Amino acid sequence: MKLINTISRERSAALYEEAKQYFPGGVNSPVRAFKSVSGPPLFIKKGDGCRITDEDDNRYIDFCCSWGPLILGHNNDYIREQVLETVMNGTSFGAPTKLGNELGKFILGNNRFIDKIRFVSSGTEAVMSAIRLARGATKKNKIIKFEGCYHGHVDSLMVKAGSGLATFGESTSAGIPEAFAKETIVLPLNQPELLEETLAKHADDIACIIIEPIPANNGLLLQQQSFLECLRVKAYKHNVLLIFDEVISGFRVGFEGAAGIYNIQPDIITYGKIIGGGMPVGAYAASHELMSHIAPDGPVYQAGTLSANPVAMAAGYATVQQLTTPGFYEGLAKKTKDFIQIIQDHCDEKGYEISIPHVGSIFWIAFSRERIYAADQIDSASMELFKVLHHELLQNGVYLGPSGYEVGFVSSAHTVEDLEQAASIICRAMDVVFA
Ligand SMILES: *Cc1c(COP(=O)(O)O)cnc(C)c1O
Repeated sequence: MKLINTISRERSAALYEEAKQYFPGGVNSPVRAFKSVSGPPLFIKKGDGCRITDEDDNRYIDFCCSWGPLILGHNNDYIREQVLETVMNGTSFGAPTKLGNELGKFILGNNRFIDKIRFVSSGTEAVMSAIRLARGATKKNKIIKFEGCYHGHVDSLMVKAGSGLATFGESTSAGIPEAFAKETIVLPLNQPELLEETLAKHADDIACIIIEPIPANNGLLLQQQSFLECLRVKAYKHNVLLIFDEVISGFRVGFEGAAGIYNIQPDIITYGKIIGGGMPVGAYAASHELMSHIAPDGPVYQAGTLSANPVAMAAGYATVQQLTTPGFYEGLAKKTKDFIQIIQDHCDEKGYEISIPHVGSIFWIAFSRERIYAADQIDSASMELFKVLHHELLQNGVYLGPSGYEVGFVSSAHTVEDLEQAASIICRAMDVVFA
């Protein structure tokens, strides 16, 4: 069963050469540049259901799904209709619209963990605003984050652990003043004692703890329920706010995201990706009390020219409405599990060192059999194997995000047949990787 792949990527390669004249590294977001895999990035001209088509007319079963937003697949009928209907009335007014109310009401009405929400235009903006809210509400400055969690390109979060245990951070990007990085304490995941020690020492200066409750930007570092519960208990104990960054997990693992599946009440939750149905939307949400600190009600300033843009609200609303269909998440999780099982069984049978941690419709191919909880357990040498896998999959019509640290996403548009086809291609690619 060979896909109709011509394998030529000439047009993508030519467009990439051209793009390098216009954009740094030829791209508008770094991971798109295919730096950690081989070949030029694919230029995509359309998507439909679970498949994307590149400029050379190659088709791929897509597990990147725009890095997570497309839980309903590409070009979903209802989203497209609602976007088109909305755009006929203009694209932006810089004034409130009924559509914003509708999306806000729908989300709040189906989520027990938040009372009030503010829409912004990206995940990064949501996180940046949530941190400001935490600092404004607590009148404290420092924050705790975890190694292996990504929270967008916010200054104070582009920080890694400095030397020594629980010291203040070092920035991971040029252009971030040392003084900013010093406000961030970086801890390893899954180490409750270290957290307690740090809080006991510094709680008077700490505004918040921020975590991806389902860390999915550096592999899939599924945490133990007990660790997440410990964050909640310790944050209350030390009078520090707990932020769940649910830009990936929100609306992905369930309508209420990770807060819902672990049944843990964070103080602030950030959203992005799925919430905009493929359009630029982010949001942060919290209790009435906390949100009353936000301008114009309170002194924490945050604004946006295109916030709650009506076309983006239409895409978001059309998306989330489809997620409350009974059985939606269960069906998606079951399809994902069966898909992964085919690959895992094949790898086990052949003795390949592979495990595929997964939750709901998120999965990650780990070149290890160890259960991985923390970033430092990932063997960077295994990324050479991923490179071979990625190339082999592109040759045979399966598209994964171009880095071995990235997770894959299954959408409701992936049928059982699509997934069986993809699984068989992945199994054959594994044979090449381990040949
Ligand atoms: C993607 C992501 C962000 C950043 O969102 P952008 O829309 O890319 O700015 C922040 N936090 C998490 C957990 C993410 O996955």
